[in-house]
Amino acid sequence: MRFYMPTKVYEGDGIVLKQEKLFRGLGKKALIVTGKTSAKKCGALDDVISVLNNCNIEYTIFDEVKANPPIEQTIDGANIGKGADFVVAIGGGSPMDTAKGIAILLKHGTDNHIEKLFGKTDYDAIPVLAIPTTTGTGSEVTPYSVFTDDKLKTKLSMPRRIFPLYSFIDIKYFMTMPTAVRNTTIMDAFSHAIESIINVRSTAYSELFAFKTLNLFRKHKDDLMNDNIDKDALLDFVRASTFAGVAISQTGTSIPHALGYPITYQFGLPHGMANVTFMAEFFRVSPKEMVDKVLEASGFKTTEEFAEWIRKFIALTEKRPEVKEEYLEDYAKLLSEQEAKLKSHPRKLSHQDILEMYKNSLL
Ligand code: NAP
Ligand code: FE
Repeated sequence: MRFYMPTKVYEGDGIVLKQEKLFRGLGKKALIVTGKTSAKKCGALDDVISVLNNCNIEYTIFDEVKANPPIEQTIDGANIGKGADFVVAIGGGSPMDTAKGIAILLKHGTDNHIEKLFGKTDYDAIPVLAIPTTTGTGSEVTPYSVFTDDKLKTKLSMPRRIFPLYSFIDIKYFMTMPTAVRNTTIMDAFSHAIESIINVRSTAYSELFAFKTLNLFRKHKDDLMNDNIDKDALLDFVRASTFAGVAISQTGTSIPHALGYPITYQFGLPHGMANVTFMAEFFRVSPKEMVDKVLEASGFKTTEEFAEWIRKFIALTEKRPEVKEEYLEDYAKLLSEQEAKLKSHPRKLSHQDILEMYKNSLL
């Protein structure tokens, strides 16, 4: 058993503005990677620019990252960031994941980018600093990046492992999240914790973080359903998201994430909601003793009660995707070919099992 999570995490009010010393040691030029508006709205971009100016560090900004980012955005970002010594990612999982890919290309060049990001040879990266603004992916403490692949019509996890060097977590940056973003990202963190526990790679160390996440969810789940999240509850969810990130940094995610990717790609169901859409079916094919532990820690008595809560919660912000039965065979095939994901599950799942999980969850 081993526990390796090298990212240094700094949390607190105004934390970025207090970190000049760390920034000074990183070089002369930075690339800031964000989405269109959220980094500006939440104040994180102003804080980062202010620290960089105080340290006389030059910077360029790539603020075009789309949700569920296409792989090609790594090239656009690397071109804007030419010569950067480090990358500062501000936003949800989309900018943080994209920044990790960009950081590889900034070190090794943009030619043959697919090979560098997805090929067999490992490539390292210039340092990445991560400033999360959503309560979900945990990308600020995970080595993972997920990109959209338009050829395969789904999302793919990059095989490179890029842990951020530093993460800066400030509650202020999360307060501008719209309810729909908050709800779906909390479901992402919730699913990370569950998929990390019901996982052959789960350890005593990863479980510590995963069960803590479930306990925080249980504490606030009624308030979450009633849209009654005050600042203290939000801080618990901010931490839960990072804790769940630490858990999956050890174990990876599992079947619900893989089932959800094509549904997010084809029907736009946000990532966190896509994961939990499949969770009750995931419980059905998982060892009962593991499921019971997860249900208890999350405050549910039975899978049926859990499934009803999830159905009601998704309906607060999302429409049910209208998926036709004939698509499901292709989606099931995509997952049947992902050996590593299937191996994370304690039981062997056949193509038929996967197809049934799709049917029972979506039709
Ligand atoms: P996201 O795609 O980064 O952002 C979703 C939306 O929320 C964007 O429109 C964004 O605006 C907005 N937003 C973000 N923070 C905000 C704030 N504080 N105030 C107002 N608006 C805000 O969402 P995400 O759920 O965090 O990330 C999802 C991606 O992460 C998916 O691609 C998923 O597959 C991946 N993921 C990665 C990991 C990992 O370990 N690396 C784990 C799970 C999932 P802007 O466009 O302006 O930024
Ligand atoms: Fe996720």
